[in-house]
Amino acid sequence: MTPTAPHEGLAPAADRVLGFTVGARNVRGRVVRLDAALNAVLSAHAYPPVLSDLLGQALVLTALLGSTLAEENDGQLTLQAQAKGGPVDLLVCDWRAGKVRGYLRHDGVPEATDPAALFGEGHLAITLDFAATGERYQGVVPLEGASLADAAEFYFFQSEQLPTLFRVAVRWDEARGWIGGGLLVQHLARAEIGGERLAVADMHPDWSHVLALASTTSEAELTDPDLSAEALLWRLFHEEEVRVHDGPVPARGCRCTLGHITSVIAQFPDDERAAMVGDDGRITVDCAFCARSFALTPEGAAA
Ligand SMILES: [Zn+2]
Repeated sequence: MTPTAPHEGLAPAADRVLGFTVGARNVRGRVVRLDAALNAVLSAHAYPPVLSDLLGQALVLTALLGSTLAEENDGQLTLQAQAKGGPVDLLVCDWRAGKVRGYLRHDGVPEATDPAALFGEGHLAITLDFAATGERYQGVVPLEGASLADAAEFYFFQSEQLPTLFRVAVRWDEARGWIGGGLLVQHLARAEIGGERLAVADMHPDWSHVLALASTTSEAELTDPDLSAEALLWRLFHEEEVRVHDGPVPARGCRCTLGHITSVIAQFPDDERAAMVGDDGRITVDCAFCARSFALTPEGAAA
């Protein structure tokens, strides 16, 4: 399924985050398009298409969530699903400073694409780490609903008490490779724009209207390489003034380094390290995120 040369001869759909606010409707949000970044992450793994699609959705969600964070603080957002009873027992994606990466662990191939068929029973944890201050926030929700995006919506409803809509789509294009797209829309508390604060439980007419509009965004629109993020927003909110601003450009990035790998291996006792030595006389460590392979001497030094 992985093309040898994605986008050859074609204008790329482009990796992009576009933030927006619609003041008249008290909403803000993001449009995300993942193109080369998505293909770079997925091509490092050899997952069956249905699982590439799943990891793709998780990467789009991670970009939607992480790019919101990047504006305020250079922190890290991690999306982690842990489960049992289904083909996928672990899925991890993270975002830091515009760099996104991810992997999953599976045994077998699911027959359907809803969380129950993919994961069995499990939880989705969304974690924010701020290295500068040492602060960490984590919310955990069950892996339920029709998609990962449903679980993420529930996370915001439960832990942030912030009405939020996610639309996420991933599609395989024979010519271009994988294309991912996402839309995040959040209702702003009135206090943030100088008005009366809404009770969380209230379903404000503005939000109902926005939900009705945004829910019509199709998977085809989210992943249409010829439909710009601006054009997508225009279709949704053409009656209102929409302010847009470019977010960070998402790219595939992994933080694995030989230095980090050797420091981890150095922490093992000698006998355990000896047991890691392969037939070639070296310790081989693979990065789960990017599948890069590191070779070390039996003593754990760079080989
Ligand atoms: Zn790596």
